[in-house]
Amino acid sequence: GTPLAVLAAIARIARSGAFVKDGAHLEALSTADTIVFDKTGTLTTGSPSVVDIRTVDGITTEALLMLAAAAESYSEHPLGQAIVAHARAQGLPVGPSEHFTYQPGQGVSATVAGKKVAAGNRTLVPDAPETLPAQGIATAVHVSANEGYVGTILLADVIRDSARRSITDLHRRGLRTLMITGDQEMTAQAVAAELGIDDVRAGLLPDQKLAAIDAERAAGHTLAMVGDGVNDAPALAHADIGIAMGSGTDIARESADIVLISSDLNDLTHTVHVACRARRIVM
Ligand code: ADP
Ligand code: MG
Repeated sequence: GTPLAVLAAIARIARSGAFVKDGAHLEALSTADTIVFDKTGTLTTGSPSVVDIRTVDGITTEALLMLAAAAESYSEHPLGQAIVAHARAQGLPVGPSEHFTYQPGQGVSATVAGKKVAAGNRTLVPDAPETLPAQGIATAVHVSANEGYVGTILLADVIRDSARRSITDLHRRGLRTLMITGDQEMTAQAVAAELGIDDVRAGLLPDQKLAAIDAERAAGHTLAMVGDGVNDAPALAHADIGIAMGSGTDIARESADIVLISSDLNDLTHTVHVACRARRIVM
C-alpha cells in the first residue's frame, strides 16, 4: 500500500490546488534533478494579443487579418483564437473556411475563398522573411495564400507572474530548468532570459519535444515535464513525471501524472517541496 506519509502529502498538495494521480508519482518527483517547461500556455499565460501586422505590397492589413482569421476560425490554439478575436474587434467578418487542418507545433491551413491559406511558423510558410525587427517576446504567425507569403501577424504573450518565483525557487532547491518549445529561437531566448531558465531548445515539433525528453533521460537525468498543449502530450507521457496545466488541453491533462488545477506555477514548487519532505519521512 501507499505509505501514510505519502497519502498525507497528496492531501496537502490537493488543498493547495494540485491533483496527484498516484503516490508513486510523488516519490518520482522527489528524485527529479531537472524541471522541463513548455513555453506557450505554461510559462506564459497563453492569452496572446495581436501587437503588429506586416504585409507584402498589394495586401492590406485588413485583408491579411481576414484571411488568417478565416483559416484559424476552428482553431483551439491560443494564437489562432487571438487572431480571430482581433479580427472581430476590428469589426471584420470571420470565415467561412473549409478543409481546416491543424499541424501541432506548426500552425493551421484551410481553404478560404478558393485559396489555400496557411498560418503558422516557417515550417508551414517557408518563404517568410528570416528576421522581423523589434520582436522581443512576440511570436510571429506567418501567412501564405496559395503558397505565396502574404504577411506576418505578431502576437505578444505575457509571462505568468507565478513563473518568475517558481523558477527562482526551483533553482534555490538546486534543480536545473530547461525550456522546450515549438516557438522560434528568438522568442524562446527572450522568455528564457527574462526568467533565468538554464537551457532552451526551440523550434521543436511534438516528436522532437519527445526526443529531447528521451535524450535527457538517456543522459541520466530524472525529469519532471510541465506542459499544456496537444504538442506536449507525448513528452509529458515520456518524462519521469508529467505535469499538466489545469488550463491545458484535455490530452495534456490525460497524459500527465499531476495536474496544476489553477495553472499556478507556485503550486508546482509547493508540490516539489511536499514530495521531498514526504520522501524524507518515508525513507
Ligand atoms: P509551445 O511549444 O511554446 O507551446 P506550440 O508548439 O503550441 O508552442 O506552437 C509552436 C509554434 O507553432 C507557434 O509559436 C506558432 O509559430 C505555430 N503555431 C502553432 N499553432 C498555431 C496556430 N493555430 N496558428 C498559427 N501558428 C501556430
Ligand atoms: Mg504550450
